[in-house]
Amino acid sequence: MSKILIIAEHDGQSLNSSTAKCVSCAQAIDGAEIDIVVLAADCTAIAAEAAKISGVSKVLAVNNPANEHLLAATLAPQIIAIAADYSHVFGPSTTFGKDLMPRVAALLGVNQISDIMEVLGAHSFKRPVYAGNVITTVEASGDSKVVATVRTASYSAAALSGNATIDVADIAVDLPQHTRFVELQAGSSDRPDLQTASKVVSGGRALGSAEKFEIIYQFADSIGAAVGASRAAVDAGYVPNEMQVGQTGKIIAPDLYFAIGISGAIQHLTGIKDAGTIVAINKDADAPIFDVADIGLVGDLFTVIPELQQALQS
Ligand code: FAD
Repeated sequence: MSKILIIAEHDGQSLNSSTAKCVSCAQAIDGAEIDIVVLAADCTAIAAEAAKISGVSKVLAVNNPANEHLLAATLAPQIIAIAADYSHVFGPSTTFGKDLMPRVAALLGVNQISDIMEVLGAHSFKRPVYAGNVITTVEASGDSKVVATVRTASYSAAALSGNATIDVADIAVDLPQHTRFVELQAGSSDRPDLQTASKVVSGGRALGSAEKFEIIYQFADSIGAAVGASRAAVDAGYVPNEMQVGQTGKIIAPDLYFAIGISGAIQHLTGIKDAGTIVAINKDADAPIFDVADIGLVGDLFTVIPELQQALQS
């Protein structure tokens, strides 16, 4: 029987929804027993949240002051200490998981499977390659542990109707001293988180400047959406890198996605493959974004957005 350990993603206070999405992926493996490990300075509140995810048997809480800043180099040896009992170790394919899971795989001496989007069996998975243009089947060896990241955009979060037991785990391992936390520089925003928001408004090169990008923020705020951008808008310095959507940015799956002044390059589209309704605003009726859009508006964004906003207010 498969025994799956899921590494919880959190911000030190609350659980990220990527964890419940990993649980959904793990549940697709027949008869799997699923545990979650929370590594934090103080796991109490986060472990309580994790215990509510249905389908989870047990939550392991690893309290350690060294886990305050979630450094991959510090977390990985602790995970290895627990992983012996498990056939699979899963983490989310987010910035957190992409940093951590290759280290876990390397310490276990196995290859990591990246971006599981579908489970075919306990050792067989589908994952996207070539910017999502090709879906490939990966077979993991049945003899070794499976260490994998889960493409969270491909899974809905498991329900919160569970009641798993919480065990406090004492792990006595030497932690490496070669990596230390210096500081966190992050943009602060009251807007919804781009990676988990149900509505996202993204702007592209057409915005023309950081000042003109303000129209995107205003529109997003008026509908309670997160804000994203194309790589061209990021490279031109209109917005910070963390807002990039696409192959080399964030892979997202909002219910509603606005692509405004974005042409629809394949590298952008791969980031919104699992989005629900896609609305495109572009002045070029032949822009490729209209091939994937559910609703298309051909026009100048600087005219269309104010009109749209006015219509929404009335
Ligand atoms: P453009 O392609 O220049 O499109 C601008 C659009 O705005 C045009 O369609 C134009 O008709 C329209 N427009 C202009 N003015 C107006 C107006 N006033 N009103 C309405 N519409 C207007 N891109 C990403 O987005 N994310 C990625 O993660 C990413 N990763 C990449 C990885 C690699 C390896 C490579 C090679 C490229 C990657 N790219 C990525 C870049 C990608 O190929 C495109 O260059 C980029 O997405 C284009 O951004 P854009 O649509 O904003 O700009």
